[in-house]
Amino acid sequence: MVLRPPGLQLLIDVLREGGWTVVGPTVRDGVVVHAEIESLDQLPRGVGDVQDAGSYRLSQHGDEALFRYVVGPQGWKSLLFPSRELLWSGRRTGTEMEVEPAEVDPPRLALLGVRSCDLHALAIHDTVLAERAVVDAAYVSRRENTFVIALTCSDPGGTCFCVSMGTGPVPDKGFDLALTELLDQDGHRFLISAGTSRGEDVLDELATRATGDEVLRAARADRDAARKVGKTAAGRMGRSLDTDGIRDLYANAEHPRWEEVASRCLACTNCTLVCPTCFCTSVEDASDLSGTQTQRWRLWDSCFTNDYSYLHGGSVRSSTSSRYRQWATHKLASWVDQFGTSGCVGCGRCITWCPAAIDITAEVGAIRSGKG
Ligand code: SF4
Ligand code: SF4
Repeated sequence: MVLRPPGLQLLIDVLREGGWTVVGPTVRDGVVVHAEIESLDQLPRGVGDVQDAGSYRLSQHGDEALFRYVVGPQGWKSLLFPSRELLWSGRRTGTEMEVEPAEVDPPRLALLGVRSCDLHALAIHDTVLAERAVVDAAYVSRRENTFVIALTCSDPGGTCFCVSMGTGPVPDKGFDLALTELLDQDGHRFLISAGTSRGEDVLDELATRATGDEVLRAARADRDAARKVGKTAAGRMGRSLDTDGIRDLYANAEHPRWEEVASRCLACTNCTLVCPTCFCTSVEDASDLSGTQTQRWRLWDSCFTNDYSYLHGGSVRSSTSSRYRQWATHKLASWVDQFGTSGCVGCGRCITWCPAAIDITAEVGAIRSGKG
């Protein structure tokens, strides 16, 4: 089907009336972030972004397009795997200790505008958090209450390399609905298709509720135009990474480039916090002053901190070079051994949001090419 902008508003209305909180892109503090969306007016109309290593700024396209930005600093991770989460509470009565697991009552979230790289990141988190012997029950519960509206990228950013990672720019699976925004001589519209029966039900309701030309049957020209959007985007990646035989990173453990990059790395953890697949956590216990109540919280952590590898007697990875090497090698090589896919989806966030402008594609490329 094809939605005119009022049809996209109808989609938001139908989802909201069905009990979903629609979360999508909006501009705040000079970046595109995710927030609850009730109206198309909240979307970043005419906004683009210019991204490079260590830099991000919004730009104005001056047109009516709603999705011409790329990805902002937030993945969808924080909605499904919060940065701070209560695991359990405990209470001491006499010599007994009662433990109560934290209740999870997730909101029903409809995620609007999920790029293909982020769809693959969701699939990676499903593998890591929901498909192993011990599952993260809170994540599973949130994930089951998620409706995904994917989006074909039209204007990839200067740090994007999803084509190299085989994760984009056209959504291929893992969505309920998929949109491609079209803005040409035939006007402003969105080609929309369903990936699940839930998505089909929503499309049926849109067709039933439409009163004018806000929802139309897709013509061949619309499908051709949408294919062109994806193809053009695929040819405009800002970065690339040769992934052929990339597990040979193991053989480069002593390469001098690890020390060179460490001399620039601030070990600030930005790259891991913006990464949509990083999932390292630590726990923190907090008790009250009387010593009768306690809580255990889980917080995002990062392999870039000295404490993350602390074992009895000291840190296993005490140097920044060993931590950068651990991160890059895990993302691109040992993740494959562990989970069967790469841990990197080529979204480019770690490059854009690194204050030292360190670029994983350049570092790994230099190490694998033998250059210092
Ligand atoms: S690579 Fe960049 S973002 Fe990551 S810890 Fe080092 S300085 Fe921070
Ligand atoms: S390692 Fe960097 S490019 Fe790869 S998924 Fe994480 S943030 Fe995106």
